[in-house]
Amino acid sequence: MKRILLLAGLLLAACAPKSDMDKYIDALMGRMTLEQKLGQLNLHSASGFVAGAKLNDEDANVQAVRDGKLGGIFGSSDVEFLRQMQQIALESGAGIPLITGMDVIHGFQTVFPIPLALSTSWNPDLVERAARIAATEASAHGINWVFSPMVDICRDARWGRIAEGGGEDPFLGGELAKAYVRGYQGTDGVYDDHDVMVCVKHYALYGAAEAGRDYNSVFLSRQEALNGYMRPYQQAAYAGADSYMSSFNEFEGIPASMNNYLMNELLRDTWGFKGFIVSDYTAVSEQIAHGIGDLQEVSARSLKAGLDMDMNADGFVGTLAQSLKEGRVSQADIDRACRRILEAKYKLGLFEDPFKYLDPTRAAKEAYTPGHLASAREAARECMVLLKNDGVLPLKKEARVAVVGPLAKNASAMAGCWSTGSHNSECVTLYDGIAEAARSASYAEGSWLFKDKDLEETILYGMAKSFMPNFRGGNIHTVPQERLVAEAVAKARQADVVIACVGETDAFSGEASSRSDISIPDAQAELLKALKATGKPVVMVLVTGRPLTLEWENENMDAILNVWCPGSEGGHAAADILFGDANPSAKLTTSFPRNVGQLPLYYNHKNTGRPHGENEPFTKFQSCYLDVLNGPLYPFGYGLSYTAYEYGPVTLSASKMPANGSVTASVTVTNTGSRDGDEIVQLYVHDLFATSTRPVKELKGFKKVHIAAGQSAQVEFTITADELSYYDHDLRWVCEPGDFDIFIGPDCQRGEPVRLTVTE
Ligand code: BGC
Repeated sequence: MKRILLLAGLLLAACAPKSDMDKYIDALMGRMTLEQKLGQLNLHSASGFVAGAKLNDEDANVQAVRDGKLGGIFGSSDVEFLRQMQQIALESGAGIPLITGMDVIHGFQTVFPIPLALSTSWNPDLVERAARIAATEASAHGINWVFSPMVDICRDARWGRIAEGGGEDPFLGGELAKAYVRGYQGTDGVYDDHDVMVCVKHYALYGAAEAGRDYNSVFLSRQEALNGYMRPYQQAAYAGADSYMSSFNEFEGIPASMNNYLMNELLRDTWGFKGFIVSDYTAVSEQIAHGIGDLQEVSARSLKAGLDMDMNADGFVGTLAQSLKEGRVSQADIDRACRRILEAKYKLGLFEDPFKYLDPTRAAKEAYTPGHLASAREAARECMVLLKNDGVLPLKKEARVAVVGPLAKNASAMAGCWSTGSHNSECVTLYDGIAEAARSASYAEGSWLFKDKDLEETILYGMAKSFMPNFRGGNIHTVPQERLVAEAVAKARQADVVIACVGETDAFSGEASSRSDISIPDAQAELLKALKATGKPVVMVLVTGRPLTLEWENENMDAILNVWCPGSEGGHAAADILFGDANPSAKLTTSFPRNVGQLPLYYNHKNTGRPHGENEPFTKFQSCYLDVLNGPLYPFGYGLSYTAYEYGPVTLSASKMPANGSVTASVTVTNTGSRDGDEIVQLYVHDLFATSTRPVKELKGFKKVHIAAGQSAQVEFTITADELSYYDHDLRWVCEPGDFDIFIGPDCQRGEPVRLTVTE
């Protein structure tokens, strides 16, 4: 039967009238030589990987374009340079325009908060707007393809790239993935010159790198991968994402860039993705080190497994012709990949107008505008998580504040990792933002980052240190730590309140930035202790790209505001919150562990046969630690506000639901404080008995509601089979009849269960 259907499908496809795109590409490919086709499968970074590169005949890329050996280039935002490269592409070989890519991750010239921070807004509209602004600014700089969104789920804060994604939950991650796709690509299915093509990464499961060490292997069952990690990649495909990037890691013993299950079976055949897949940076040749074979072997296997474009490894362009001769790949394999890349160029409109994205007048008018900066400020305010407040916040503007700490005047720390535009050094620092808002603000640097100079140098100048053996560190530790601390203490003594700006700079997170100790670096911790000893109220402003362990800080600081790496307007946005012009509403999308030994730590874990409560003390022969509670310090979904909310009981429109039916779960949320606020209301489910084990809780819905002081809001969620389904042991998406607990609450730990029974 299946065969007959397949045949019928093929027949129908063969008889269907060809689209204009198909006709165009058929004709074009009919004229192309094998070498020209292989050239399309090749992607290089612009030499020097810098904006502002000038055309240079010695540049190997220029030669490669002349020889028709390059299908695209990435990493340059110099419109003039890209115009020249495009011109050369048009005049050589088959005359096919280049696709021009860039790592545009959280804004471009206008920097938005890092993606992990953006996710804490729980606001897909905000994410979509940020992506739209990034698309406008990137496309004004000659870029038509962005290596974003990064949608890797991560449960381990040691991994530096946790900063680039949307946290630990697949449902929220899926909603945000769709928002990014809408924002970048637009919503009308047609690319105009302000829409850019997304490249969803890193496909797949890169965030599950063992022990949080970057590029490390991934060990997950298919079932756990599908239930816990895949949804964001899947939702991006459903939303129309036109390209994906294969990841560095292996899955089931096969590197992702040659993983037929991931690329062909799942992404294409199951989810219906029709676009092209590019490898991550030299991921094709790295498969040699994975122990698979030589460059020819890994290239042939990657192509066959569904990879279309090779980034910077020259494996496809260099070996596939030979593999074709030897029968290791077929002409059809090459044609398929080439067609997919040409289709992307066609969709972008590059055949119609190769210079569509290369208007030299746009950048000056459309990037880094006051309007975009205002949006970045608004976004940053919505992404700052108030972790603790003994009542010291919001501050009075008349208060004398001492702004201290090594991150107080650090602009690039505001920008965060992967800020590839050129305005990072102009980000509003915490000190500048606070000084603008407060009547009186003093400053002291306060401390080094780390006591260990080598470690500090490695973090700040790791790239230089790795590539230049004789590199001698930057200008650090020039003033003794004791003096810095003493200066800060003196400023603190003269102030009414201290704002301690500590944590991680931009260099601590992002790629190749794993940490095994995720506490506040020791030199800064020493500063905090000295400030505490002054007896002055201390507000800790945490700059970070990842969750940190903050037990001491939680005990001893009067307030903790986590601003992450908040972008261009970070200092202003932080001041808006600190002084109460804005009411914080963000909530965590990753668990903050008590200590690093708890990792990996995530709220949607399984129960085990010997379950143990998150906050219960040690009990022998239960699944727990001798020396730390099971639960996080700050759970998923947690975040404070300057007002308070009370949740009424949850009601269901029916306590029984047939598998094809639906019920409404509702709750009344009351703002019992004296300020208006935005509350993120969260819906969780727990499947009590299933044919496979299920997590203790799973997020299945969320709503952000504005509630005026003293008012209530009725919040409703519709529950259907989809919210109650999962991939069973045979990898079928099923809703199994039986009992479910439904929770609605302000975070993953609070909310009383209500029972819902799904009938046959
Ligand atoms: C990173 C990708 C990035 C690519 C191109 C790689 O090292 O893993 O996230 O898109 O480089 O810059």
